[in-house]
Amino acid sequence: MDKFTQNYIDGFMAGVIARNPGEKEFHQAVREVVESVASYVTAYPHLMDLKILERMVEPERVVMFRVPWTDDRGGIHINRGYRVQMNSAIGPYKGGIRFHESVNLSIMKVLAFEQTFKNSLTTLPMGGAKGGSDFNPKGRSDAEVMRFCQSFMTELQRHIGQDTDVPAGDIGVGGREIGYLFGQYKRLRDEFTGTLTGKGLGWGGSRLRPEATGYGLCYFTEQMLATRGESFEGKTVLVSGSGNVAQYAAQKAMRLGAKVVTLSDSNGFIHDPDGLDEEKMQFVFELKNYRRGRIREYADRFPSATYYPDERPWKIPCDIALPCATQNEIGKEDAEHLVAGGCRCVAEGANMPSTPEAIRIFQGNGLLYAPGKASNAGGVATSGLEMTQNSIRQKWTAEEVDAQLRRIMSDIHAACLKYGTAEDGTVNYVKGANIAGFIKVADAMVDQGLV
Ligand code: NDP
Repeated sequence: MDKFTQNYIDGFMAGVIARNPGEKEFHQAVREVVESVASYVTAYPHLMDLKILERMVEPERVVMFRVPWTDDRGGIHINRGYRVQMNSAIGPYKGGIRFHESVNLSIMKVLAFEQTFKNSLTTLPMGGAKGGSDFNPKGRSDAEVMRFCQSFMTELQRHIGQDTDVPAGDIGVGGREIGYLFGQYKRLRDEFTGTLTGKGLGWGGSRLRPEATGYGLCYFTEQMLATRGESFEGKTVLVSGSGNVAQYAAQKAMRLGAKVVTLSDSNGFIHDPDGLDEEKMQFVFELKNYRRGRIREYADRFPSATYYPDERPWKIPCDIALPCATQNEIGKEDAEHLVAGGCRCVAEGANMPSTPEAIRIFQGNGLLYAPGKASNAGGVATSGLEMTQNSIRQKWTAEEVDAQLRRIMSDIHAACLKYGTAEDGTVNYVKGANIAGFIKVADAMVDQGLV
C-alpha cells in the first residue's frame, strides 16, 4: 500500500475514533472496510472530495427509546430499544432486530454498517439498518415476550414502513417474535403490508426464509471450495450455535455430503464424531425451536455425542468451520486450534464471529475465509425476495426461491472474486466483498447529491 493511502486510512480512523469514543466494535468494523476500500477511494478523488466514506460511517438516523413492560407477576421492567438507519442510498433500510442482553448502541451501529455492504452485495435494492433491545427473551413466558414485543413495536412503528424501513429477525427474534411484532404493527397502523420479513407462511412469509441464511452459507461455501476443486462431500464440518442459522447450515452441509460433528450454545458444545443425520437434526429442531431447550440435551439423547460445558468447538479437527453463533466467537487461540486441526475453509454464518487477529491467522495460513457480509447474505436476500412477493401479492414455490437464492449467492461469490483476486490468484474475500458492496452504495450517493 502506498504512503498516501496509508495516511488517508490513519487520518480517517483517527476521525472515526474521536467522533465515536469507546465504541470499540464500531472502530473494528469501520477499519476493516476502510482498509479494503482505501486504495479504491484514493484512486477516485471525487469520492474523497464528496466525503463519501465520512458520510457512510455516520448513520442517517438513530432512534433510541424506552421499552417498559410487565412480567407475569406484575413486576415492571424497563429495557432500551434501538433502530440505527445507516444508509438508504440504494433502497429502503433493511436489517434485523436483535433481542439479547449484549445489545448496545455500538453493536447496533456495527451491524447496521455491515448490513449496508451486505445488502448492496445481494444485488437487491435494500439500504442498511439494524435494531434491537437489551431484552433477554430466555426463560420468559410467551405472554411476557408478547408484551415486550408489543411495547417495543409501539414506538418502533413510527419509524418503519414497507417503503421506509423493513426489519427482520436476528438473535433472539424468530418466528414467534416476528408474529407479535407484526400483530402490533398491523393493529397500530391499520395496514397489512410487508413491513416486516420473516413472517409466517400463512400471512405473507416467503418459503425458505427460515432456511435461507444457513442454506445460502453452504451454497457460498460450495463455490469457495470449488475454486480449489473441492466440495462438501466427505468433509468434516464444525458448526457453532444451534439457532436458526446453525440449524439450517448443519442440515444443508449434511445433505451436501459432509459430516457435521458439532453444535453449540452459550453454555457449551456437543461433539458427535458419528455426525448428524436427519433423525438427529429433527431432534435439534424440536429441542431448540419448540421446547427451547439447551444443546447439552443432545448428548443425553444420543450416546455417540459428548457435551463440553463452557467450551467452544474449535479444538476439534475438521476440514471446514461454519461459525453460526455470535460476534467474536473465534479469537486468536481458537483460530490457531482450527489451523492446527487441519481446517482449510472458514465461512461465517454469524455476523463478525472472527476477531481481526483470527482473520489474519486464517489468511496468513492460506485458508479459504469468507466474511459474514458475503457468506451469510442469503438471509437478507431472501427477505428481499419476501418483499418482492409481498409487493406483487404472489407466493413463489420453495424451488423458485431456492433457485434465486443459489443465483444470488453465486453472484456474490463472483463479485468477491472480481474485486478480491490477487495477482498470484489467491482470493481475499474480505477485500472483494467490501469493494463490491462499497462501489454500488458510493455511486448511488454520488448520484443523489449531498444528503
Ligand atoms: P439465534 O438466536 O437463532 O441463535 C443464536 C445461537 O448462538 C444460539 O445457539 C445461541 O445460544 C448462540 N449464542 C448466542 N450468544 C452466544 C455466545 N455469547 N456464545 C456462544 N453462543 C452464543 O440467532 P440466529 O441463528 O438468527 O443468528 C446467529 C448469528 O447469525 C448472529 O450473528 C446473527 O446476527 C447472524 N445472522 C442471522 C441471520 C438470520 O437470518 N437469522 C442472517 C444473517 C446473519 P443460546 O441459546 O445459549 O443463546
